Amino acid sequence: MAKPGKKGPATTVDIYCTRCRTQLYKYRKGGKGSLVKCFKERITVDYTQQPCTCPGCEQAFARETLIRGTPAFKMIGGKVFMK
Ligand SMILES: [Zn+2]
Repeated sequence: MAKPGKKGPATTVDIYCTRCRTQLYKYRKGGKGSLVKCFKERITVDYTQQPCTCPGCEQAFARETLIRGTPAFKMIGGKVFMK
């Protein structure tokens, strides 16, 4: 189960592979706008078997990175969509 949020409403979004429509993550998204990066600590359910790789079609959809010292995934444009 997800931990309670620190403050304010965080929207949980479902992230899918654009190519095969396999679900990749449930993610607590802060703020508005498109999904450019995912902080690992905000992923509430991880459906992948290898980091950054779609379990359905095995394409790489993101790269591991650090954002201000926090582990994150930088999404590759057009590889994923959310709803
Ligand atoms: Zn896929």
